[in-house]
Amino acid sequence: MTGAVDRRRDIPRTDALLADPRLVAAARHLGRGPVKAAVTAAQQEARRGGIAPQDVAAAALTTLAALAAEPAPGVHAVLNATGVVLHTNLGRAPLSAAARAAVQEATGYVDVEFDLAGGRRARRGRTALEALLAAVPEAEAALVVNNGAAALLLAVSALAAGRTVLVSRGELVEIGDGFRLPDLIETTGARIREVGTTNCTTVADYTDAADESVACLLKIHPSNFRVVGFGGTPSTAELATTGLPLVVDIGSGLLSPDPAVPDEMDARSTLRDGAALVTGSGDKLLGGPQAGIVLGRADVVERLRRHPVARAVRADKLSLAALEATVRAGHTPTLDALHADPAQLRRRCEALAGRLPGAAVVPSDGAVGGGSGTGVVLPGWAVAVDERLAGPLRCGTPPVVGRVAGGRLLLDLRCVPPDRDDDVARAVAAAQAVPGGDGRSADATGPEQA
Ligand SMILES: *Cc1c(COP(=O)(O)O)cnc(C)c1O
Repeated sequence: MTGAVDRRRDIPRTDALLADPRLVAAARHLGRGPVKAAVTAAQQEARRGGIAPQDVAAAALTTLAALAAEPAPGVHAVLNATGVVLHTNLGRAPLSAAARAAVQEATGYVDVEFDLAGGRRARRGRTALEALLAAVPEAEAALVVNNGAAALLLAVSALAAGRTVLVSRGELVEIGDGFRLPDLIETTGARIREVGTTNCTTVADYTDAADESVACLLKIHPSNFRVVGFGGTPSTAELATTGLPLVVDIGSGLLSPDPAVPDEMDARSTLRDGAALVTGSGDKLLGGPQAGIVLGRADVVERLRRHPVARAVRADKLSLAALEATVRAGHTPTLDALHADPAQLRRRCEALAGRLPGAAVVPSDGAVGGGSGTGVVLPGWAVAVDERLAGPLRCGTPPVVGRVAGGRLLLDLRCVPPDRDDDVARAVAAAQAVPGGDGRSADATGPEQA
């Protein structure tokens, strides 16, 4: 008896164990919940005499090892169970199978800038441009650059350096991470002349401001916010009546209208309404790789193509291959997720929840994300599990990223390919096997308190 009491006295205290740098590091990855649970379990094991008191920290670490393993260097394929279709932190649009195959094909030597039949140099990425022009017959010419911001930078550099660009005050936006389009525009040497007010701008505001220094009028789609209440800016068609060259940054890169995102601008309609040039992203609603697309009048596109900045922002062969395959297929995982049938999502969630103890199926609103489709709600379903699974699931293989809401972890299957539901089930089961992971262990204080 005395021996047991002595043993108990020697067992390290919880606070001392939690201060162990190795366990502190594990908590950074997994959250405090699982780490505390592993510590408690190891202490209990020592009390039972299963391990020596001085081995408690090591035992807890062993329990956590599978989960606390530092992710290997490099990027990791993640299962996106957030319900956010274009998750910027998760790389925006996932590529279609066709685009992945095209990237694979393009990794070695390729005819990206070579005419195999004639045996001579050819226009770089010409087949990708042909695919874009086939998808957007309203465009006379196309150009692909590194990303949407580069497309805008190139357009303003080529058309308005040293001159004036008219922009509505309500469209001088920050696109995220502290980057603001007005700053980007001014790096080109163009001057911005703000017209109108934050909420209201009229065609007359532009025409009143137009003098001979004005090179073009720039309309920027407010991708990541909405003005509600009293407000309005002229449509593309109304702006085209000014007769000034009109550049429109449509943001999402949507080529044709999509009823799921009624407020998004699309390239075809915008050009039909009279824009001289449209710029947009490749990896938002277009559903392709990171790229910037430029579509419009042949003479205007040609000015961009010949500008020195064009060479600094040119697209690489992998992006060109992926973009071409994406546009030709016209069918992307992004569109699938955007248009997922709620009834089918519910059936998948029920099947998944049926395999997981303690899981429930709950309504879950998905979002477009990636600075697109602001305010669009995508009704669907999720499997709700204990929120303490969030850390272990993120660190599992494959990593599964869900959404913590109302004290539970929601696993929304909208952006999970249906053939990966099994992987989600296995990942949750593995995370539940961790002490503390299923919420039924001794840890009463909950996760990530500090
Ligand atoms: C997203 C966005 C950009 C930037 O595009 P990237 O491809 O992220 O560089 C520029 N303008 C608008 C309106 C956008 O929505």
